[in-house]
Amino acid sequence: MTPQTDHTLVLGLGCDRGTALATLQEAVAQALQQLGASVNAVATLASIDLKADEPGLLSLALQLNCAIHFYPAAALAAVPVPNPSATVLRHTGTPSVSEAAALLAAGAPDHPAPPTALCLEKHKWRGADGKNATVSIARRISPAPPTPAARKARMTTPSPIPDAASTAGKIMLVGIGPGSEAHMTARARQAIQEADTVIGYVTYIKLVADLLEGKEIIRKSMTEELDRAVSALDAARQGKKVALISSGDAGVYGMAGPTYEVLFQAGWTPDDPVQVEIIPGASALNSCAALVGAPLTHDFCAISLSDLLTPWPTIARRLDAVAMADFVVALYNPKSGRRTRQIVEAQRLFLRHRRPDTPVAIVKSAYRRREQILFTTLDQMTEADIGMLTTVLIGNSNTFVRHGLMVTPRGYANKYDLEQGGDTRDGEKRGRSLSTGLLGWLDTLQAEHAEGLDIDTLAARHRLPADYIRSTLMEPVTATAVESEENA
Ligand code: SAH
Repeated sequence: MTPQTDHTLVLGLGCDRGTALATLQEAVAQALQQLGASVNAVATLASIDLKADEPGLLSLALQLNCAIHFYPAAALAAVPVPNPSATVLRHTGTPSVSEAAALLAAGAPDHPAPPTALCLEKHKWRGADGKNATVSIARRISPAPPTPAARKARMTTPSPIPDAASTAGKIMLVGIGPGSEAHMTARARQAIQEADTVIGYVTYIKLVADLLEGKEIIRKSMTEELDRAVSALDAARQGKKVALISSGDAGVYGMAGPTYEVLFQAGWTPDDPVQVEIIPGASALNSCAALVGAPLTHDFCAISLSDLLTPWPTIARRLDAVAMADFVVALYNPKSGRRTRQIVEAQRLFLRHRRPDTPVAIVKSAYRRREQILFTTLDQMTEADIGMLTTVLIGNSNTFVRHGLMVTPRGYANKYDLEQGGDTRDGEKRGRSLSTGLLGWLDTLQAEHAEGLDIDTLAARHRLPADYIRSTLMEPVTATAVESEENA
């Protein structure tokens, strides 16, 4: 047992707007030093909700791999503290931020922490950036409060960690599907029912409201994704089963990736006592496609137009590549109040490669109360009502709309004459690659080359890179290759 595993300290933090991470780190290091404690003992950071977007504090929480809680001024003002300040009250509406936040975060909601629970009163530090940071430290109140003597002893001798297997929690990343109960999987419902704590974006929490009685609910805003993952790990380390809910599938622009990133940073490995389960759900592209017909029957891809975390040139290059390669595309996060031009740029890039009358379906709030479906075309799509709850499906060059259904052919018509009772077309065989499949195409290419067409002409004709054509021509079509294909 080493002090490194004793995650019991709660740090209350206050700081000026724009305080550098380095200043916060110095203040924290000094405060911990006064207690003779290591940063590994820190379980949670806490501050006032005015600071919920303070970059230094958020970076500090990430760096320490710990949760960060933000409290409203009124909640902080209600906590008796040793060092209230009139100046702090004037600026924030509470006489104490760091001391009160440390005490609040340390105490279970039904055990309001007494002021004596602070093990370090407000420590102030002015950094090289000229900004002030304050740190106060409390110890987390355990379910059975230790005697004062035991508490004092614990200050220097960390308590042994409980048996890992008996207290290990679990993180469940639950994809709840598009938003109607009927389209949520049985396992997703069960996972939410099993959970002690449910964390998610407010809208998703509302969608599963009927399952939540008696559970701890942590509602977070869209921009608090990492914070959500940190809260989940924190709760799981305390032995809780935590359901982190995402709409659609948790692995599609959802919480699965950020959660693993936070877990890896915290040193988590798959044999850690904290288990992770990802519960798949129908993503928006599955739901929206099902409502409009069968648009994804051939190769498709998803692109998010959100440039909050992805540079626009990256998004634009992907749009250009898939438009050129004739994928059916599902555009996620197509437009918001502030991001209105991205969809116009996407249209511009697509029109360079696709016909203006390419079918487009715009689906809003699929399987939710305000569901809306609109069929339009590539050149008209930006005139439609598009928002954050919309997915835009753009067809490929073969996609068509008939009787209000958007369909992308699977390719049967290339091989079978559907109007002649499904007979195979001339030169095609059932169960075999198309005559224009790889081997047939290689024969054509060899023949064209033998007729005297040079590599660049062939590259232009087949719309493929010249070096690819060259290396393909250099490799003869072997008998074994033909044979194995015949046997396939
Ligand atoms: N994890 C989610 C995607 C989250 S990104 C999933 O797998 O579906 C958020 C984007 O998803 C929205 O901007 C919208 O483009 C799409 N979306 C989510 N739910 C939707 C719904 N019910 N109807 C239409 N689009 C939806």
